[in-house]
Amino acid sequence: MNAKSGAVLVLSGPSGAGKSSLINKVSGEIGDYYFSISTTTRPIRKGEEEGVHYYFVSIEEFKKGIDNDCFLEYALVHGNYYGTSLKPVKEALNNGKLVIFDIDVQGNTAVNNRLGDIVTSVFITPPTLSELKKRLKNRSTDSQEVIESRIKMAKREIQRVSEYDFLIVNDDLEVAASALKLIAVAAKLKIPIEEINNFVQNWEDIEF
Ligand code: 5GP
Repeated sequence: MNAKSGAVLVLSGPSGAGKSSLINKVSGEIGDYYFSISTTTRPIRKGEEEGVHYYFVSIEEFKKGIDNDCFLEYALVHGNYYGTSLKPVKEALNNGKLVIFDIDVQGNTAVNNRLGDIVTSVFITPPTLSELKKRLKNRSTDSQEVIESRIKMAKREIQRVSEYDFLIVNDDLEVAASALKLIAVAAKLKIPIEEINNFVQNWEDIEF
């Protein structure tokens, strides 16, 4: 039971929910983890870095990745493709790491379907829609059109919160970060059914 395989923590929620700030805040307190860097066709934003925030590729390159089965999951979000590369995730899981994803609700469904019982999912949201609007406007990284598309998506996504294991309302960053830390630590302790069955089998069989 000690050499446990890895686990997955899915974080979803509207842009402006504070997911990145929360991850940064808890990063030193949750042990060894691998943050999955997605690949996207959306244009790079001011302040973003290639290979840090995303791998930025053309639509042609992305489609090649789809054809070559490179993605664990991918989705079209706000008219751009976003995908999770399979290879580094597999490696991190084989090394027993906690793999953290920042993906949308479609991605959560796909990851749950593919990785099942090692997944813990969390939806993170500002307390209200008007607070989200305020945060998106203050951030001023997006055009009015993009902000409206994000708000529309947030209204749709909030209807699917019941598909998640946990909901974090990010009103106070300190409180939200403590919750995320507890969830991340617990996610690492989650044991896949196969490992539980093996444990039970051995527990019954070994005699002294
Ligand atoms: P943004 O453009 O603000 O960085 O991200 C827009 C949305 O795409 C967010 O909801 C984010 O969680 C989602 N997203 C980012 N990467 C992926 C991915 O690899 N797969 C999926 N399904 N969604 C993603």
